Amino acid sequence: KLHNTILELKGNIRVFCRVRPLLFDDSCSDQGKVLSYPSSMETLGRAIDLTHNGQKHAFTFDKVFMPEESQEDVFVEISQLVQSALDGYKVCIFAYGQTGSGKTYTMMGRPGHQEEKGLIPRSLEQIFQTKQNLQPQGWKYEMQVSMLEIYNETIRDLLSTNQDASRTENGSAGKQYAIKHDGNGNTHVSDLTIVDVQSTREVSYLLDRAARSRSVGKTQMNEESSRSHFVFTMRISGVNETTDQQVQGVLNLIDLAGSERLSKSGSTGDRLKETQAINKSLSSLADVIFALAKREDHVPFRNSKLTYLLQPCLGGDSKTLMFVNISPEVSSAGESLCSLRFAARVN
Ligand code: ADP
Ligand code: MG
Repeated sequence: KLHNTILELKGNIRVFCRVRPLLFDDSCSDQGKVLSYPSSMETLGRAIDLTHNGQKHAFTFDKVFMPEESQEDVFVEISQLVQSALDGYKVCIFAYGQTGSGKTYTMMGRPGHQEEKGLIPRSLEQIFQTKQNLQPQGWKYEMQVSMLEIYNETIRDLLSTNQDASRTENGSAGKQYAIKHDGNGNTHVSDLTIVDVQSTREVSYLLDRAARSRSVGKTQMNEESSRSHFVFTMRISGVNETTDQQVQGVLNLIDLAGSERLSKSGSTGDRLKETQAINKSLSSLADVIFALAKREDHVPFRNSKLTYLLQPCLGGDSKTLMFVNISPEVSSAGESLCSLRFAARVN
C-alpha cells in the first residue's frame, strides 16, 4: 500500500525535456556534436545524451522532444494535464532552462505566428472549449486569472492598473502582496489583481498587458533576458446544476527566470543580486519537488517566494510538470548539462 502511494506521488511529478532547433544557419556545424537521442526500445522518445568536454552523459525523462517537434506535438502530450484542472485538480507546469533555450517559446509561442502559439494559449482554448462542451450536461464554470512576477524575491502584480505603485520597491505604495493559504488549500495574495474571464480573447488581452509590464534586464547573453519568474494562474470553479457536484481547480503556468550560472552572465552589482535571488528560488524549487517525490516529512516550501506561493499546488494530489528547455549549441553544452542534471534530480 505504501509502495503504491509513493509511485502515485511520483506519478504526479513529471519531467519533459525539450531541445530547440539551432537558430542560425552558420551554426549548422554544431549539429549532432552535443546532443544525441538514443533509440533503444525501452527508452524511445525519452532518452537524451549530452557530450561535454569529450565525456558523454546519459539522461532519461518522461519525454524528450527533439528540435523538429512542433508546438502541437508538445501540446498533445499535456492536454490531459490541462483537462485535469477542469476536473478539480491543482496543476503546475514549469519551464526551466538557461536564457534563450525556449522557455517563453514553449509557454507563449512565437509572437505573430499563430501556428506556433505555445501551451498557454493552447490551454486557454481547450479550457474554454471544454467549458462550452460541458454546458449541456449542466456544468457551469467560472474562471479567474492573475498574473504576477517574482523579481528579487519580491512579488509584482502584472495586471495592476497602477503600474507605478506595483513597481515601487517593497510595495511602498501600500501594496504588500502577502501570501496566505487557508485551510481549504486556497491561496490568497493581498492586493493582487484578480480578473474574471469568459474567453481566450480576454485572457490574451491580459497576457499582452502583463508582457508589457514584465521586467527585463540586459546581460551579456541576451539583451531581453528575463530575470524574473512569470506566474500565470487560472482558478476554475465548476458547479453542476443538475447533480450539485462542485469542483475547484487551479492551473499555474510558470515561465521561470533564466537558470544560467553567474560567471557566464558576467554579473556584478544589481545583476549579481538578481542572479543570487534566481539561484536561490530555483534551488528551493528543486528541493521542494525532490522532497515531495521522496515523500519526506519536511518539505521546505518557505525557503522562497515561488515555492511558498505555489505550496498548495505542489503537494497532495496536485499534478506537476517541469519542462527543461535545452539550447543545442556547443557553446551552451556546459549550461545544458547543468539543466539536465537539475531536471534529473527532480525526476
Ligand atoms: P527563453 O525564454 O528560454 O529565454 P525563448 O523562448 O525566447 O528563450 O527562445 C529563444 C529564441 O529561440 C526565440 O527567438 C524563439 O522564438 C526561438 N525558439 C525557441 N524554441 C524554439 C523552437 N522549439 N522552435 C523554433 N524556435 C524556437
Ligand atoms: Mg523568456
